Amino acid sequence: MIVSFDIGGSAIKGGIARSVTDIVPLARRPTPKDNFGEFVAALRGVIAEAGEKPACLSFSIAGVVDPDTQALTCANIPCIHGRHLAADLERELGYTVLIANDADCFAMAEAMSGAGRGHRIVFGAILGTGVGGGLVADGRLVNAAGGFAGEWGHGPIIASFAGNPPVAIPAYPCGCGQKGCVDTVGGARGIERLHKTLHGVELSSEEIIGHWLKSDQQAQRTIDVMIDLVASPLALTINITGATIVPVGGGLSNVEPLLVRLDEAVRDRTLRKFGRPVVVPSQCKLEPGLIGAALLGLQHVGEHDHAA
Ligand SMILES: [Zn+2]
Repeated sequence: MIVSFDIGGSAIKGGIARSVTDIVPLARRPTPKDNFGEFVAALRGVIAEAGEKPACLSFSIAGVVDPDTQALTCANIPCIHGRHLAADLERELGYTVLIANDADCFAMAEAMSGAGRGHRIVFGAILGTGVGGGLVADGRLVNAAGGFAGEWGHGPIIASFAGNPPVAIPAYPCGCGQKGCVDTVGGARGIERLHKTLHGVELSSEEIIGHWLKSDQQAQRTIDVMIDLVASPLALTINITGATIVPVGGGLSNVEPLLVRLDEAVRDRTLRKFGRPVVVPSQCKLEPGLIGAALLGLQHVGEHDHAA
């Protein structure tokens, strides 16, 4: 048995995992953001609730472990930001600790028990507030030891013109320090940014999508431009990785017509000509972070021959 965690900015979710198909969520707890002692105490509470000694602990966290220094970048939870979190938690809690990025856990969940089942190479894409992703090959998370693989949201690559007729797109500055990242135009905040640039109107992404679904002309233009900007880097990602399926998670993945449009635009641009949808809605709608972390933990325990 292992205990997996999904550490979010507002809640810590825990779960007990005995197998790929036997993952049981535990009670949620608020995330202590500023006090590491309280953070550890909250984890202890989850482990106590599990009621038996786990073979290891695995975590899905909205942050990235630097593969060189092992330091975690997690801006929204200051008490763990910058820490060597796996080592710190192993010392505090006395168990083997695995830490993985939430987009990586999402990709793992989809590859093993979601829309990616049966595919050798699965690229999980997040279209939420921003843009993220994770890569699983032959059932293995490419970032199992930390790292930036799958981060198709970042890099100065957005086209200077997009849409039909083409309109000039500014190279918006991104939180990562670059300009013109997919993250600046591809998620909910990106749609809002594009809409403001194109029409001078500030609306929420929900409003823009709602208008788009009612065939509002301004919203149609915004979504057309967004799809045009996002489809090329996603097609390139498919060409590079050899992924044969791209399950999409995050809030925008719930807008099915948006994914249908994106899938068509992406498949127009990939080298391989797929005769079926490739960019598809995720299937692990409930707790993908918890499931993905659990799968990583179970895999680790299986390979290290601990008693589960
Ligand atoms: Zn960026």
